[in-house]
This record gives sequence, structure tokens and C-alpha cells, in this order.
Amino acid sequence: MILILAPNTAPESSVYRELIHRLDHLTGIKHRVHREIGTEVTLTEIYLIGNTAALNPDVVRQFPGVERIVRISEPYRILGRHQIDDRRATSFEYNGVCFGQDTFHIFAGLCAVDSRESVEAMMRSLQAHGQTCTRMGAYKPRTSPYAFQGYGKECLPYVFELAGKYGIKVVAMEITHESHIDEIHHALKDTGNATGVMLQIGTRNTQNFELLKFVGRQKEFPVLIKRGFGITLDESLNAAEYLASEGNRKVIFCLRGMKTNMGDPHRNFVDFAHVPAVKRLTRMPVCIDPSHSVGTRAMAPDGLLDVFHATAQGIIAGANMVLVDFHPFPEKALVDGPQALRMNELAHFLDDTALVRETYLKRVARAAQVQHI
Ligand code: PEP
Ligand code: MN
Repeated sequence: MILILAPNTAPESSVYRELIHRLDHLTGIKHRVHREIGTEVTLTEIYLIGNTAALNPDVVRQFPGVERIVRISEPYRILGRHQIDDRRATSFEYNGVCFGQDTFHIFAGLCAVDSRESVEAMMRSLQAHGQTCTRMGAYKPRTSPYAFQGYGKECLPYVFELAGKYGIKVVAMEITHESHIDEIHHALKDTGNATGVMLQIGTRNTQNFELLKFVGRQKEFPVLIKRGFGITLDESLNAAEYLASEGNRKVIFCLRGMKTNMGDPHRNFVDFAHVPAVKRLTRMPVCIDPSHSVGTRAMAPDGLLDVFHATAQGIIAGANMVLVDFHPFPEKALVDGPQALRMNELAHFLDDTALVRETYLKRVARAAQVQHI
């Protein structure tokens, strides 16, 4: 059971102290407080854990400071949706950008940073097309130990400086070790926080629980967690819940395809039909990664690349974010060049995604009319 307190209930207030006193006296029930400090209001939620079935909801609702209660019916206690009218937030703001189950952002960029020149060419194009988010891989988890592992902290100063120069507000960047957070924090600080970073947990680390706990304990950066490529959706959603259970709720869930030969000729089996399922089961915004799902530049007879088609399939189903590989010089890319889209395809990609998003919004409006008849 979750107790939602009246906004701005201060921990020093007598109402709050009285409530905690009552909770301390409930037998077999522990509580955990989560406080979300916003610019205008501070929201407090208290999670009751243990034999909550024995509690009378009507009595708990009358406890001091309690505005309403939410019954937990699903396993993802914090990130889950627990009842039809669970009105808890489905969005968050980071560095002036709002991410939610109703918003839409494209993160086009480099799979791996390979030179200052590539980064600058990429960001210049993004700005020219009105984009304020990107992806830039500095720490790359590679199948072979002999493959390029990313420039790591060496490239961070120019990535962040150029992001600031070209008006990029959020850079999605995978980390593979907790020490990378510190490196990112310091490099950002050295540029006067010219931009923001969304930490990415890659599919190979979805169940690296110690990394998840560490990343969850920091609240400076939001987190994009990829679905594990060989585990169930439930297991991946529990991985996301690890982040939230440690305190960080600014979490976005990313579908990126599943590893199975059934997906051939694509690199992974595209799983974007799960976009609405994740939005129904949780309050997380949902991202799709068509580049790592499809993994080729193959084109259908209709003249659209398979990557464009897969992207459209995710957006038409309500995806809130698209993580997509682009490269100004794909032949020189050190990682995933063959699947990268080219700069002269950016305008078409943005037009195509905008068209599909518009259609999705029309579908939602139409569905709302039908339900009201
Ligand atoms: C990536 O986005 O660069 C990446 C390595 O993706 P994934 O973890 O989905 O393989
Ligand atoms: Mn890649």
C-alpha cells in the first residue's frame, strides 16, 4: 500500500510526526519514505511493506497527512501502475526537457564517439534540424575484448563542450561501471554544465544488480535502461525497479530487440509491440532503439529502410523516445557503421517520425471518442 501525503507535508510538521508514530505502531508492517523535491511542490509517498492485507484502507486513509492511498497490485512497486486511477506522475523533467508517457523525443547521434570532427558534424546537423537531444557512446561494452572500447573519459570534455555550443540539452550515454558517473559529473562541471546527461544501462548490464543499485542511488542523472536481450519483459521491468527502489525514479525503459535467430535477417527480433504493454504495466516513458534492433541498412521495395519501418512501428504504438544511430562518415565509424543512418537522411527521418507521431495522436483522440459514446 502507498500513502500519498498532502503536497508539501514537511518532515518536521506535527502532522507528519503523528503519522510516523502511527505507522511505527502497526504490527508486521515496515515503511519506507520517498520524497520528490520539485521546484514548486514536494511530494511524499510512504510505502507500507509487510502484512498490508490486514489493514483497513478506510482507517489508513484517515491517518494524519494522508491525502489518498494506492493499493499495490503489481510487482513493480514504485514504477508500476497499481490501479486504474493511479494518478501518480508518468513524467519527469530533466535539464528543461520533459520526459513522459505523453511526450516524444528523438535521440539521434553516434553509437560511439570516434573523433571530435564526427561529434561536431553530428551536433551541427542536429541543431540545424531543431533537435536538442542526442546519443553519444563514450564507454562501449563490446563482445570482443580486442574491439574498440570507446574513448571513455578522454572524449567527455569535447563532447560536452560541443553539446553546449550546439544547444543540446540531453546526451544519452551508456555507462558500464559506477566510476563512469563520477567522470561524467566532473567533465560536465568543467564545462560549466553546458549540457545534461541521461545515463544508459545497456542490454548486457540490465541485470548487473550492483550497478543498478549504484546508479539508482544517485539522483543527479536520469536513467535509460535497455531491455535485456535474452530475458523476459518481467525480468527487465524488475531491473528498472531496482533503480527506483534505490531512490531514482527518473527512469525510461528502452526496447531494443531480442537475441534469437527468429529475428533474421535483422540483428535482433524487433519487440516494439511491447510499447503499449510497458506503458500499461508501468509509469515509465518508453523508448525504442530501431538501430540495434534492425542492425542493417537494408531497404524494403517501397523505398523505406527497415530502420525507418521499425521506428514507425514503435511510434505508431505510442513510443515516447527514439534512440537512433547516425554518423556523418559511416565508413570511418569505429562501432556499428553499417547500421548508421547518414546525415543527408536526418531530415527525412525527422519528417517520417513526425508523420507517424501525428497519426498516433489521431488514433488516441479517436479512441477517446469511441469510449465516450
Ligand atoms: C548502444 O545503444 O550503443 C548499445 C550498445 O545498445 P544495446 O545495449 O541495446 O546493445
Ligand atoms: Mn551500437
